Amino acid sequence: MTWGTIATWRMAAEGINEASKLLKGKGTADDAVEKLVKTVEANPLYKSVGYGGLPNEEGVVQMDAAFMDGDTMAQGAVAAIENVLHAVSVARLLSHQHYNSFRVGAGATKFAQLSGCEMTNMLTAKAKTEWQEKLQKEKNEKMSSYNGHDTVGAITLDQQGSMAAATSTSGLFMKKDGRIGDSPLSGSGLYVDSEVGGAAATGLGEDIMKGCLSYEIVRKMAEGLSPQAACDQTVYPFVHKLKKRYGRVGEISLIALNKQGQWGIATNVEFTFCVATSNEEEKIFMANPGVDDTTVISTVRQ
Ligand code: ASP
Repeated sequence: MTWGTIATWRMAAEGINEASKLLKGKGTADDAVEKLVKTVEANPLYKSVGYGGLPNEEGVVQMDAAFMDGDTMAQGAVAAIENVLHAVSVARLLSHQHYNSFRVGAGATKFAQLSGCEMTNMLTAKAKTEWQEKLQKEKNEKMSSYNGHDTVGAITLDQQGSMAAATSTSGLFMKKDGRIGDSPLSGSGLYVDSEVGGAAATGLGEDIMKGCLSYEIVRKMAEGLSPQAACDQTVYPFVHKLKKRYGRVGEISLIALNKQGQWGIATNVEFTFCVATSNEEEKIFMANPGVDDTTVISTVRQ
């Protein structure tokens, strides 16, 4: 039976491996996507997701995460949540609630605590040093901030035909207190419908939000486009539009997986991502924008 999973960035490789094991063994798409994202969140080496994530301007790690079930369309999300090890699990718990399913700041953190989620100080010594160095540098050089971000965004398809999607990020390094990106927002950071497919985003949230890009890719797949065509025909026209109408555009990368287990991606910067399906072994790929609004994809040596 067909199964598949795709996730943003090379940092998802271990998570893809964990998700694949579950999917091969007839595990659910929901469990697999949560496991994938949790694996990335738990790794202190990744500076843009979960434990070890870089803090905001005030030295506080504030995370955004979302979870969506493609069968029921249930969604849960948290934003600017603090001190919780697995923001994605809080989002999944919230997805079970009809009301209050998207919580921010102190309310989100309180919900996590009351629900028995693992709480911990998310600022590692390494991330704190990097933050202090950045503060110093900015004082001296008046450098612009906001370098150093990335989201783990993932989509899963299980052997029963169910799909799920999830995201997790600590957002932009040195962001303002309470700044929220695209990652927890339905239709921007992620979207999935088991009867069609799913999509997820990484890049500059402020710009991804302007196009509701994940929803738009799923909508195009519902009209019959392949995941690759849907990604190309959504991302590149939007990048051109934003350049023309807004005057500038940040980094934007989208991944997609359909209910047949086919995948696609489009990006305006060099971008790595991981895939495993019932037909393809786990692999890390690199994508670059090509000519004529197409995407050039190559395998990364492992
Ligand atoms: N999209 C994330 C945000 O804007 C960051 C990223 O994926 O690079 O918070």
